[in-house]
Amino acid sequence: MENLPVVHVINGRQKKLLQGHPWVYGNEIERVEGEPADGALVSVVDFRGRAMGTGVYNSRSLITVRLLTHRNEAVTDALIAARVRAACDYRRFVLRREGTDSCRLIYGEADRLPGVIADRFGSVIVLQVLSLGMERYTQVIADALIACQQPACLLLQNDDAIRLKEGMTCFAKVLHGALPEETVIQENGIRLCVDVLGGQKTGYFLDQKDNHLFLRQFCRDARVLDCFSYIGGFALNAAAAGAREVTAVDISESAVARIARNAALNDLRVQAVCANCFDFLREQVREKQRYDVVVLDPPAFTKARANMQNACRGYKEIALSAMRLLPAGGVLATHSCSYHMPEDVFVHTVLSAAQDLHRQVRVIALRRQDIDHPVLAGYPESHYLKSLWLQMLD
Ligand code: SAH
Repeated sequence: MENLPVVHVINGRQKKLLQGHPWVYGNEIERVEGEPADGALVSVVDFRGRAMGTGVYNSRSLITVRLLTHRNEAVTDALIAARVRAACDYRRFVLRREGTDSCRLIYGEADRLPGVIADRFGSVIVLQVLSLGMERYTQVIADALIACQQPACLLLQNDDAIRLKEGMTCFAKVLHGALPEETVIQENGIRLCVDVLGGQKTGYFLDQKDNHLFLRQFCRDARVLDCFSYIGGFALNAAAAGAREVTAVDISESAVARIARNAALNDLRVQAVCANCFDFLREQVREKQRYDVVVLDPPAFTKARANMQNACRGYKEIALSAMRLLPAGGVLATHSCSYHMPEDVFVHTVLSAAQDLHRQVRVIALRRQDIDHPVLAGYPESHYLKSLWLQMLD
């Protein structure tokens, strides 16, 4: 193996690496032997000099080293390509589902490709490289994705502000084929028109696919409210399952325009409302509206652990309103997509809303992100989506 610069980790911090965590923060480094350039490969050793693995280095990022391997093996283009192939191979489980042609192909650290995201939307692949160290493997990753998946188009969607923190620029570029005028995907048999260039994240939240499907069983003849609906994932599944009336609410005008468009694409009826859900929910309570099913799927209220209390207040406020709209027997599906919000704290927060209202509830399910976003052992950050389903008993 080539001689790489060596990063020595301070005593005590080797444990998490041994457990499988792939990051070394700047304040966990005792010293660096050699002068690694930002983006270069480095060896990581513990305080005794024992090998911890090989990773990419970036002095400009709080996450100074991202490990690509915990073993004593050379990091080569071939290794990266093999990682991409393994990632795609695993996703066959999802792509075999009837009526689903889209999934996350590469989920960063959980596929041992740190900071790399690839989503397949029908015949279009959207690739994002969010760590400097992986930037130089962009073409290797793109080539491997093209060979495995044969997409009509591969879009490098590097237009994410996280890249600025890593010292990189933001841009979007088609690396293969041509971007179709419209990207229409299929999820659970529902057609969705997604915006891969101007939409949120890569264009659509593929992590909710199986929760969208899970919702269906509660929706026949029901009056359903989908809050923070983006382009209507939950709402359309509710309508497809025979809901009597479906309302979808989002603050983004472009997302709301797409809900209406997607409903028409599937010949379904969804009432799309552009509003702040906090206000909308309060108003519905004031009007004494009643729903059989309410879905809450807000954006991450906290991007840092320090804001946890505020985040809890936010989750509780919308849970309180939602529960007021639900009679006995009603179902609430509520979500948190912030990994800083631990599952037990989230569950406690939502249940405390029921307590405040003197309502008894029962937990129907506690779910998480779909399996194309697997959770890497030793790396709790990869479990970010919490999905709590309750039924009101009185
Ligand atoms: N439920 C969606 C994903 C939601 S992502 C799905 O299953 O695909 C969160 C959404 O909340 C985004 O679409 C964002 O535009 C919207 N949003 C953020 N703040 C909001 C607010 N205060 N009121 C309403 N919508 C909001």
